Amino acid sequence: MQRIWPIPPIEYIALNEHMETRNVCVLHTRAAYDAIKGHLTFTPAQDINVTEATLDYWDSLIKDIDAEVIYAIGGGLPVDAGKYIALKLGLPLVSIPTALSVDAFLTWASGYRKDGCVYYMETKIPDLLLIDFDRIGAGPDFIRAAGITDVLSIATGSADWAYAHKRGKNPEATPYDANVEAMVQTMLTAVIDCAESAGKGERDGLARLLECLAMEVQLCNFIGHSRPEEGSEHYFAYAVENVMGKGLPHGDLVGPGILLMAQLHNLDVPKLQQAMEYCGIPLNNIPQDVMLETLKSLPDYCIQHKLPHGIAHDLTDEMIASLQLTF
Ligand SMILES: [Zn+2]
Repeated sequence: MQRIWPIPPIEYIALNEHMETRNVCVLHTRAAYDAIKGHLTFTPAQDINVTEATLDYWDSLIKDIDAEVIYAIGGGLPVDAGKYIALKLGLPLVSIPTALSVDAFLTWASGYRKDGCVYYMETKIPDLLLIDFDRIGAGPDFIRAAGITDVLSIATGSADWAYAHKRGKNPEATPYDANVEAMVQTMLTAVIDCAESAGKGERDGLARLLECLAMEVQLCNFIGHSRPEEGSEHYFAYAVENVMGKGLPHGDLVGPGILLMAQLHNLDVPKLQQAMEYCGIPLNNIPQDVMLETLKSLPDYCIQHKLPHGIAHDLTDEMIASLQLTF
């Protein structure tokens, strides 16, 4: 038997029209919650500011939770924690993203940090995903559409997948599939086309961005892995996070990773960069020396963490010297 996960049921709704009568525990990130709590119709019995993505920390939160339903409000951190905690407690989970900043609210796994890398654990999908485009559109410029990097990463992720295929480095479980690559390439085109509108916080652009994130997630659910959208750009992001600290949004780390790896794969870098700029992704938050050191350490890092084969595994000093590091 092979089970294919679905994406969560999604409601496009104004938050002040969503009714809740159960006893609620909200997991949130403080700023995101403060920005939208005035639009909620209910008062939670508990609210917890989630500050870390480690299993020990999430376990430490569980003992204090006494609720009938978990709400995860904010970006990736609260929903990853929420999926884990709701599963452990056997409670339903409602996710309210305050920005389209990641794809975590659509997936069945929780990403957590361990030993300087990010790992994914099967948990659950949210039982309901509430999307209020007005609230997301009103969010900060740099984060509201930052999840575009998790679709733009198709460019370098699928290039890595094909690259590994040519070298015979894809294991049996993740064989290269040209038709799947063709499907994700159309999502890449669609997300580039909506970048300007999504970046401005317009409903149509944000809806298209969400559709692209959702279709990419569902396609990965069917094939059973994330190779079409996760490769060396994410490896760079995971490695550089150890130096930069965990405070930076995912897009700030993956975005530069995409532009670096796209150069090595000879992709259309200006087009990818333009899409990120439309969505306000800060591309120069990582100092050049940190970028260089991370790139140099990346082949060892990839082996150490057993990451699927990509161009990052084969980085040489010459390749690194050829890269433009400012965007
Ligand atoms: Zn990502």
